[in-house]
Amino acid sequence: MIELNFTKHVGDPFIEISRIGVIKFCDKKVVNYRNLKQCIEELFKKYVYKNAKTLNQIFSDNSKFTHNSTAKNLNKRFQNAMEYFEKIMSENIDGYCVSCGEEDNLSKVEKMLFPLTSGEKNVNFTSFFSGDILLCKKCAISLFFLPLVTKKVACGRAIIRSNNDEINEFWVEDCIEEFNNNMLKNKEDILPNSTINIFENFAYDMIERLKDEDLTGDVSFYLFSNVDRNTQVDILNIYKNQISFIKQVAPLSFKNELPSRQKDEWRYLIFKYASKERKEGTKRVKFEDEIQENTKYIFRYYNPLIRDFIQGKSILKYLRESRVSWLLTEIYAKEILKMREERLKVIKKVANGLLKLNNGDDKEFIKKVVFPIEKTKSANELRTRLREFMRKLLAMPDKPKLFSADEMVFYILPSGENWQETKDILLIALYEHLSFDEEIERELETIEGVEDEIQ
Ligand SMILES: [Zn+2]
Repeated sequence: MIELNFTKHVGDPFIEISRIGVIKFCDKKVVNYRNLKQCIEELFKKYVYKNAKTLNQIFSDNSKFTHNSTAKNLNKRFQNAMEYFEKIMSENIDGYCVSCGEEDNLSKVEKMLFPLTSGEKNVNFTSFFSGDILLCKKCAISLFFLPLVTKKVACGRAIIRSNNDEINEFWVEDCIEEFNNNMLKNKEDILPNSTINIFENFAYDMIERLKDEDLTGDVSFYLFSNVDRNTQVDILNIYKNQISFIKQVAPLSFKNELPSRQKDEWRYLIFKYASKERKEGTKRVKFEDEIQENTKYIFRYYNPLIRDFIQGKSILKYLRESRVSWLLTEIYAKEILKMREERLKVIKKVANGLLKLNNGDDKEFIKKVVFPIEKTKSANELRTRLREFMRKLLAMPDKPKLFSADEMVFYILPSGENWQETKDILLIALYEHLSFDEEIERELETIEGVEDEIQ
């Protein structure tokens, strides 16, 4: 009897994750024809069960299953699916599978029959192919399982693919569990739903979940739609170091706090930047108990900090303006910016040196030392400023030295490295030791405001 092994890795992310869907749904890595047929029957019975009124989410508008002639008749739809399964299994065409490269015994697969296909082409994904294509039995059959292993995000559906198989399996098991629970609850919409409407927030939430499961790896998130027009696939790539940063700073699922300063700080930042409006700085969400209790709740809000972090952009700006601790900054600089330990040490040393210019009057120190640094707009300006402060220090009785020539060249403002990072980290190191009154706060906001406009 024919046996199909679904364990092979393939190039197409849709088919890759669907193959794991087959393995988990059928609870077998190698499935014979009879078992596979039973699984397909069970799957389609679930897809078309009587409460499921949202079949368009499972199959595209173009699919035979949702076409007007069959859409109202669930039995007919089920019958069509089984006929199509038999057709795929019985064909024997020579060539190479466009997804996994397997030779011969292929089936001709019509685009319109498959779930999640659209009217437009997308050459990157075989499930978006434009006409008939040749697929091996395993790749073709696994596409039936694709809807099962997707989650609703915003107005599309998302899948993930990681270089760590455990992460892929975690995703698939989670989806299938939710799918089955939705059926038990007689929900109309049985497909897994993240309830998060912002793609970046969804990815962030997923990273926190992976952290809780102690899973790590690179993860690509795909968000796609199965509507006929304006089809697009959005992709977010999250790297291992981002997960490992979150591991160090985010408390376990937010609510079960572990006592650590950086975790408290990070949580505060996530809440601080959650905003009800897409325009930054408006209608910030209040730090309410219900939000603290329900992790997902906070991810319904637009959050520029999460957006930039997920998109791989620097979040030093947020760390600086929130005047976070050196501890959190150091973790971020090492893990995400990949900053050398020595460079961090030297910048910290410069900050400590500058603090010697503080005669016990924070306000005066901020005006004379911090603001001039804040106002620098280039590496040259920053270097000049630091040299001026060094001269002032050298005029003091014990002549403390701010930095050596080598330290300036190799660690403080090394060529080829981002000078702005030095400035941000230096300021964070200074802030930690200073208190700000209202007047100073206002003045600082003006400086930061001007800087945002320049950027
Ligand atoms: Zn194949």
